[in-house]
Amino acid sequence: MTLAPMRDAEVASTDEPVALTDGIHLVVDALKLNDVHTIYGVVGIPITDLARLAQSSGLRYIGFRHESDAAHAASAAGFLTQKPGICLTVSAPGFLNGLVGLANATTNCFPMVQISGSSERHLVDLQRGDYEEMDQLAAARLFAKAAFRVSRAEDIGRGIARALRTAASGRPGGVYLDIPAAVLGEVLDAQEAAKTLWKVVDLAPKQLPGADAVDAAISLLAGAERPLIVLGKGAAYAQADARIREFVESTGIPYVPMSMAKGLLPDDHPQSAATARSVALKRADVVLLLGARLNWLLGHGDAPQWNPDAKFIQVDISSAEMDSNQPIAVPLVGDIASVVDMLVERTTSGQISVAPGWREELSAKSASNVAKMAGRLEAALTAQPMKFLGALQSIRDVLADNPHVYVVNEGANALDLARNTIGMQVPRHRLDSGTWGVMGIGMGYAIAAAVESGQPVVAIEGDSAFGFSGMELEVICRYNLPIVTVILNNGGVYRGDDPSSTADPAPTALRAQHEYMIKAFGGKGYHATTPDEVATALREALASGRPALIDCVIDPSDGTESGNIAHLNPKGISGK
Ligand code: ADP
Repeated sequence: MTLAPMRDAEVASTDEPVALTDGIHLVVDALKLNDVHTIYGVVGIPITDLARLAQSSGLRYIGFRHESDAAHAASAAGFLTQKPGICLTVSAPGFLNGLVGLANATTNCFPMVQISGSSERHLVDLQRGDYEEMDQLAAARLFAKAAFRVSRAEDIGRGIARALRTAASGRPGGVYLDIPAAVLGEVLDAQEAAKTLWKVVDLAPKQLPGADAVDAAISLLAGAERPLIVLGKGAAYAQADARIREFVESTGIPYVPMSMAKGLLPDDHPQSAATARSVALKRADVVLLLGARLNWLLGHGDAPQWNPDAKFIQVDISSAEMDSNQPIAVPLVGDIASVVDMLVERTTSGQISVAPGWREELSAKSASNVAKMAGRLEAALTAQPMKFLGALQSIRDVLADNPHVYVVNEGANALDLARNTIGMQVPRHRLDSGTWGVMGIGMGYAIAAAVESGQPVVAIEGDSAFGFSGMELEVICRYNLPIVTVILNNGGVYRGDDPSSTADPAPTALRAQHEYMIKAFGGKGYHATTPDEVATALREALASGRPALIDCVIDPSDGTESGNIAHLNPKGISGK
């Protein structure tokens, strides 16, 4: 065990003076001991001094305007680094705000820990009406991978070790750690307290599948006529980029990347079947799912989207994920880095080969889809008012020259169209609405990407999606982060031309010239009405390395209700 430094505070006694510490110091010491570098949070009772001490002790503290954004940032940090991102919240309402991000992290399998101060246990438990009274532990249990409470300062080290371990190992997720105010203020003998802290060894140990399961997967792929690999964000998270590429290229199997796995192999890779996705899914006879769940984003593996006779090989760290939607012919339970190592090592040269007919079928479909899209793209370049696809082609071209830029993307149409228009060249450089298809992750994810990587970020936002976290522009400016927020502003949720049946605006209507918002915080604002203006503004903003926002004025009639998941939005008998 490593000893925490002695504290300045001392009490006089008849014998030797005793150095003292307290709960707040122990939290900071335990985090530092476990190589935590950054805390994302919002201060207030009872954690303000904890944030101050963290900062003065060398941790980076990023102060947000709203806890759900801080929690989203912590979860994105977890995705990018494989180490749990830390979010710090105040009691009751602040804690509840943070839960959105905690639940989203758990759903997306991102490791994070929400540490929250809480009110006095003896008052809360008897419901005596304390300041910000709430049974936070019970509430968090519903939304987290695990929830723990530290009831004595001497358990802080244990609580933090347990939270970090649980968040990062096995299937990653969000962990809640409740620390009541009284525990933060508890005073202890510093030397004794230091002995209660420890550093977690091998945070996420390797998990290897059996060799027989790996061999079964290889034989199934070898016997396939039309094999397919689906790369999910679990594969991106695993940081096994070179090995994954080696397996894909050495077998020649076509692959489809899920949105956050884009860039794991460059999007223009000859084996990518992204532009022939529907045929790839419908026709594949053996499918290797690499860190991708057969959830709604993959049509639950059901026909007619999928070949009803397809056999699935699923690689996942969670054994319970197997058979959640379809029978899994070969469950390969283990961490992706280890599984792919074994797949590469145990596949003999030439054992898996892909019939040219299958590759040709996919290429032909890609070519016809690309040709169909070309006309739409061409028309969008000159359309006035500007279309989503007009602005996005400019963004695509600028980003193609800047492949190291992180892309954050949310919205309905802004998400669907950007995902397909903007190619990614580098792994883990695209963060988006993810498993829930949620809005509100934008600024939190962008801040974490900039803070964790030091690289520039472009957040491509629908105007509605942006509104959920828009106040965090102030954080971006306060910390002078190299984030360019590009708002595809069609003046409404889905679209901006819905008629209203009353004197009030339609339920879907929105109105903002967002460039004024960032100007209020000292950032640079641009107003763009043509694709050329978008390109010029984005190039200038990226070159400046400073916070900027480009409000792109989009045709209010451009946009499909609910984007490409319109079928999930019931219309009722009077619906359009
Ligand atoms: P996508 O949305 O891209 O399809 P999902 O979030 O549905 O991806 O799936 C990611 C899967 O990856 C989860 O089931 C998760 O358990 C799994 N996973 C995450 N990290 C690892 C890892 N290191 N090794 C193996 N599986 C992992």
